[in-house]
Order: sequence, then structure tokens, then C-alpha cells
Amino acid sequence: MRKFNFCAGPAALPEPVLLQAQQELLDWRDLGCSVMEISHRSPEFVEVAERAEQDLRDLLNIPDNYKVLFLQGGATGQFSAVPWNLFGAGGSREERVADYIHTGQWAEKAIKEARRYGRVNIVASSEDRNFTYAPGPDSWCQNENAAYFHYTPNETIGGVEFDYVPEVSCPLVADMSSNILSQPIPVEKFGVIYAGAQKNIGPSGIAVGVVRDDLLDRTLPEIPRSLSWKIAADAGSMDNTPPTFAWYLSGLVFRWLKEQGGVEAMAQLAERKSSLLYEFIDGSDFYSSPVEKSSRSRMNVPFVLADERLDKEFLQQAEEAGLLNLKGHRSVGGMRASLYNAVPLEAVEALVAFMVDFEKRCG
Ligand SMILES: *Cc1c(COP(=O)(O)O)cnc(C)c1O
Repeated sequence: MRKFNFCAGPAALPEPVLLQAQQELLDWRDLGCSVMEISHRSPEFVEVAERAEQDLRDLLNIPDNYKVLFLQGGATGQFSAVPWNLFGAGGSREERVADYIHTGQWAEKAIKEARRYGRVNIVASSEDRNFTYAPGPDSWCQNENAAYFHYTPNETIGGVEFDYVPEVSCPLVADMSSNILSQPIPVEKFGVIYAGAQKNIGPSGIAVGVVRDDLLDRTLPEIPRSLSWKIAADAGSMDNTPPTFAWYLSGLVFRWLKEQGGVEAMAQLAERKSSLLYEFIDGSDFYSSPVEKSSRSRMNVPFVLADERLDKEFLQQAEEAGLLNLKGHRSVGGMRASLYNAVPLEAVEALVAFMVDFEKRCG
């Protein structure tokens, strides 16, 4: 029996997608073998790859002057790829600088990696209030020579989401790992968007990159081949063997998203799901959310109990009630409910009903 899964990643996948994959697992398209067992260069797989790209372009309304890349190494690979691919036009090691907003653990990892290749200018940081909000543009301190401006639109661990897109004069780079495809985005405002798949796209093992054409020739000369967006773009993301099953499954998710009404429908659903949970938490004295209201994530909802000694009991009983993976990140504790696209409204309704009941019995 399938349970309600609130895992932060790898996360829930749409049931119809899993069923289709199951049905096709042994004999895909009457080929007598699985999609995992054929060449990535076969016409059959190339069709899968191209269709996935087109569906993603349709879903996010990606302009023609952007390349869509299917990459390896996860979002963490892109923490390195970003400086490698964009610092090339920035002069010597000492002259290279990039702007970063520091909003929590994922931003910090991106920053640490960029510092290995150039200087990082921290435009703004929410560390002063324990990363519980997205800093507004009035507090920014940009560097006029920055090769790019990087931010994390949704901090998966802290549950902090920007409710606006930064306006900057250099290429805007966004790690959208945990909120891509959850709402329409103005792609033309971005230079680069990247996302690990395992939250809102598909299984782990693949990452999506959306890169504006004119940013493909800024690589540092010593860039490792496997990190080069230019090489990936020229090779249709097949410079080497891609994770074909993850690509195929991501394609099934894109199809499913289109059938659901696309990212507009996902935005409405995300609003309904997250406000149901936040409104309940705000109305309760037993549960609370540490995140500032205007920055609360629609995808990841961290919350704490009035008495943390009840955490273990809460998690155990939730699991017995069929509500999985509500434990907060090991670094912050408490609870976290991740409400990605594939998590249905009924899951959130069941969670709230459980929370009401738990408070009555144990609160
Ligand atoms: C999960 C996550 C990552 C890390 O992804 P990997 O694919 O494990 O490298 C990076 N950034 C954000 C915002 C994430 O949610």
C-alpha cells in the first residue's frame, strides 16, 4: 500500500508515473527489453530525450535562446559548474568575483565551492536571524564587477522561499532544486537555472540546467570536461552516457505535469496545500513555524512542537498513521513536511488531521 510521503528528497513521485514505469519495465515499446538496456544514442532513446526537453520547454515557457541540459553530479555538481563555466571572462584568479545571497545551508555550499575559484561577495545574508527569512533588495550590497549573481530561491532545509525574482545587472543564476516546476517563472530574467531532479522532477541521478546561449563561452580554460555546459550543449547532453532511466522517468513526470494543467495548476495546488498547513500551525499553540511569514516556503514546511521531548513520539505515531518522512533535517531537528508537486492535497489533509489528534492526546 502506498503511504503519504513527505520526504525532502529523493521525494514522492506521481503514482501514475510509477505505474507506467512498472508496466514498461521489462518490455519497453515492444523492443523486448527495458529502456535502461538500450543505447542512449538509439533513435528510440533520442526520441525520449528530445520529448522530455520539449515538454520541459513547454512547461516553463523557455525561450529559444536558452539551452536545456540534462546533467550529472546533482545540484552539488552545479555548485562547481557555475564558477567553472562563468568565471572565464573575469580575468585573473584575483580579479574574479561573483555575488551570492546567503540564505542557509544550500546557499552556503554553493558559496564555499565558488570561493575555490574566485572571490565571493556576500550581497546579503539572513544569518542574523538564523536563516529564517529571504533578505529584501534594499539591504543588498552588489559588486559592480561580479561575473554573476547567485541565489537559492527555495532553501529546502530552512523552508525559506523568495517571493520575488532579484533584479540584477549581471547574469542571474538560481539553484531551483526544490521549487522548480511549482509555479510559472520568468525564465528570461535568468542567465542560468539549475536543479537536481530528486525533489520536483524525477529520481536522483540527473540535474537539469537551463543556460542562456551567450553564457556558454565564459568557461575557465581548465574546466573539467564533465562540468562544461558548452560541451553538454554541443553534444545534446550526451557527451558521455547519461543516466537514461532518470531521464526517461523525468520525461514521464513532465508529461504528467502537462496533463495536470502545467505549472499554473501546480502553483495553485502548492498554495492550497501549504496554506492549509501554515494556517493550522499558526492557529495552534502547540505547533509553530520558525520562518517569517512572507518568506515561508510552499514546498518545505518546517515546524516544531511546543515540547521537543515529544518529537520522537510524534514521528513514530505519524509513521504508524501512514505519514512518512516528517523528520526535520539532521542539522536543525524538529519536523519538516515537504509538499512537492507529487504530494496530493489529501496527504496534507491527513497530516493536519493527525496533528490535531496528536495535540489532543499528547499536547
Ligand atoms: C537537494 C538540494 C541540493 C543538493 O542536491 P544534490 O543533487 O544532492 O547535489 C542543492 N540545492 C538545493 C536547494 C537542494 O534542495
